[in-house]
Amino acid sequence: MKLNCENCAGCCLDWRPIADSPSDHERRGPGEPLDDAYNLVPLTRDEVARFVERGLGDVLTPRLWRVDEETPGVVVDGVRIAAIDGRPAFFVGLRKPPKPVAPFGTERRWLDACVFLDPETLQCRIHDSDLFPDECSAYPSHNLDLGVETECERVEAEFGGDRLLDDRPEADERLLLGPQAIGAKVFGYPDPDDLRGVVDRLQRGALTDTDRAAFVGVAAGSRPGSLSVDDDRAAVAVADVLDADSWAGRAIRDWEDAAGGVGERARDPPDGDDVEVARGAPETPGWDAIDDA
Ligand code: SF4
Ligand code: SF4
Repeated sequence: MKLNCENCAGCCLDWRPIADSPSDHERRGPGEPLDDAYNLVPLTRDEVARFVERGLGDVLTPRLWRVDEETPGVVVDGVRIAAIDGRPAFFVGLRKPPKPVAPFGTERRWLDACVFLDPETLQCRIHDSDLFPDECSAYPSHNLDLGVETECERVEAEFGGDRLLDDRPEADERLLLGPQAIGAKVFGYPDPDDLRGVVDRLQRGALTDTDRAAFVGVAAGSRPGSLSVDDDRAAVAVADVLDADSWAGRAIRDWEDAAGGVGERARDPPDGDDVEVARGAPETPGWDAIDDA
């Protein structure tokens, strides 16, 4: 697999508002996601725990799915949600605030983008760190394995250029699929009754910090291969998430306050360096540095 990612970030931001034929391909899972995030990056239990330990628990958010009557589920807030053995199933991924970005040579607009995407260079701020998610490092190999169209090809189709330069998938055993994903990437929330009100807020994009922390706690306390949860580890993670006050969490609040409507031109947005780097975000090298290397 060989990619030309310069000035793209098609897999790190939600470019549906500027696409002629918006796709829902990357909204994966057993049903229809209750949130509206595109390209959510599902994290493993260990990755969730690492973000929490580093004081970045405030960048994490859950994903649950609406399912039909044929799919195992439970009803909460009037919605049938995917469940495993009666426990609501969920991923934990990275939050996507609106940022002023100009992908594919377009004008700068407010588009939802990964909390770790540098809005100026369109490079990942954690690319060279041990926080870089397995799912991102393997993208789009998983799609190539499954024979599913990639974001790179969709960008090529809409905006031209060559993005996917070599489409041979890379063998990567870190991508968890099937039953071994339970407790490792797909988690089970112990008591559906605790999610009353939460499911409704999730659908409205109105989750509270406390809501998010509860899911992160269950994920961090999960045991791979099972639905059991270490309550002590979960409680510590919940407390750490609620204490978190990272550069990234503060940047999310600033971007949300400054943003215009999704897809609108960002005519005089705050400077990305002021919102993110000045607060401690790792800088990105820019594409010239990569080309030279
Ligand atoms: S972590 Fe980095 S590579 Fe992954 S979606 Fe976010 S910005 Fe993109
Ligand atoms: S969509 Fe493909 S080419 Fe674009 S940034 Fe993602 S991996 Fe790179």
